[in-house]
Amino acid sequence: MQQVGLRPEHYHRYPHMFSGGQRQRIALARAMMLQPKVLVADEPTSALDVSIQAQVLNLFMDLQQQYQTGYVFISHNLAAVRHVADDVLVMYLGRPAEMGPKEDIYANPLHPYTRALLSATPTLKPDPDKPKIKIAGELPNPLNPPSGCAFHKRCPYATERCSAEEPVFRQVGTRQVACHYAEQFI
Ligand code: SF4
Repeated sequence: MQQVGLRPEHYHRYPHMFSGGQRQRIALARAMMLQPKVLVADEPTSALDVSIQAQVLNLFMDLQQQYQTGYVFISHNLAAVRHVADDVLVMYLGRPAEMGPKEDIYANPLHPYTRALLSATPTLKPDPDKPKIKIAGELPNPLNPPSGCAFHKRCPYATERCSAEEPVFRQVGTRQVACHYAEQFI
């Protein structure tokens, strides 16, 4: 309990007596108890206030340093991913879109979906040379995905080839990308 920032006298409390952040700390303590090599954390901070999110993320990182645990950290929060990740895998409709070192993906995303996601993330210093990319339309049904590239109905760069041919998830520079035209964004 001390390692996750809880006081031992909290041991006999009932669940409803803990805050959301404290409950996440308990969940993390339970998961780390057996010192796993890999921990899958699915949206571990999504229900928390922003200030508490930062505390929980820092706890994740402290425990990782201490126990050398690998995390599969699943999140829609790109700022949180940037804070904790070494390597990033961006998924669209259950398929891999782009994977690679965090620094490369955040500095220069190669898949149009990654580009749109990152362009929509608020920053303190918006870059006027990088205008926001709007994704058109609604998310398709994953049980009945579009033909070819699953992103083609919403992609601003789509061509006829995109609706006919599914792009291979292939090596492009330092990362892997599922887009026919990834090279043009290097
Ligand atoms: S393959 Fe075509 S539709 Fe798919 S992401 Fe690339 S440009 Fe867009």
